Amino acid sequence: MKVIHLKKELDQYLASITGNKSIGFVPTMGALHAGHLSLIEKAIEKDDITICSIFVNPTQFNESSDYDSYPQVLDEDLDLLKKLDVDIAFAPTVNQIYPNGTEAIPHYEIGFLDNVLEGEHRPGHFQGVCHIIEVFLKMIKPDHIYMGEKDFQQIAVVEKLIEMNVHSTKLIPCATHREATGLAMSSRNMRLSETGKEKAAAFYKSLCHIRDNQMHSSFNDLRKEAEKILRENDFTPEYIALCDASTLEEIDNFDNTKTMRLIAAAFLEGVRLIDNIGMQTES
Ligand code: AMP
Repeated sequence: MKVIHLKKELDQYLASITGNKSIGFVPTMGALHAGHLSLIEKAIEKDDITICSIFVNPTQFNESSDYDSYPQVLDEDLDLLKKLDVDIAFAPTVNQIYPNGTEAIPHYEIGFLDNVLEGEHRPGHFQGVCHIIEVFLKMIKPDHIYMGEKDFQQIAVVEKLIEMNVHSTKLIPCATHREATGLAMSSRNMRLSETGKEKAAAFYKSLCHIRDNQMHSSFNDLRKEAEKILRENDFTPEYIALCDASTLEEIDNFDNTKTMRLIAAAFLEGVRLIDNIGMQTES
């Protein structure tokens, strides 16, 4: 595995690829866990060359304290990537990606997705996501980009970006990897105490409670029950939304003519966690 920190060096590597080799790209912010590794394994299986980026992108953080406390463990991450035999670990500095600073980035017209759910609660977040993905797609021109359903809205945003800016890259969505307790793996889980990690399992349970009782009750009543489960486990719920999975428009009540997704965010021990599940599936 080659570790690259400079854009120039990555350009040289990409120019040196001969033959018709496909490139699989997995963008991450590091602090890698089994969820990230499942994306990388998929890329290794499907593509000839696998590139994994590790970059904590400042422009997608709407709270500077969240950015400052985001776990950064590059050496451990590189050890994990080496074991998987990734071809390139790309770990640029902020200066490499933002030579003119992080204050002014272009505006990406992603419409309604910018202002709902995560977009509503984290203003500017998806603008930062669009920018970093646009920079990477232009730089790497991968055949495939692998992204986790853990960040369900992010997939819709990047699909829209690919369509708008006419990239030839195909997005491959990957199922959410969970702990045995059901807790969705996340780099932010590292900031929870041991008791916090145990209590955090209530997040997935609260969403499953809504999914598993949809035949017997209204969404509104079940959402209240789910919020109660969360509060009993020291969570502060931020939102639990029932959405049309194909558009991410919110729906008021269960509608079996639609593919529905439950999407939620909640705080535990000051850490903001997100999760989502299909209303018809296990993941
Ligand atoms: P992050 O490092 O949080 O930016 O995540 C990098 C990629 O890994 C994104 O596409 C995430 O959706 C994905 N990812 C994060 N956690 C999980 C998980 N538990 N299961 C599957 N994919 C994940």
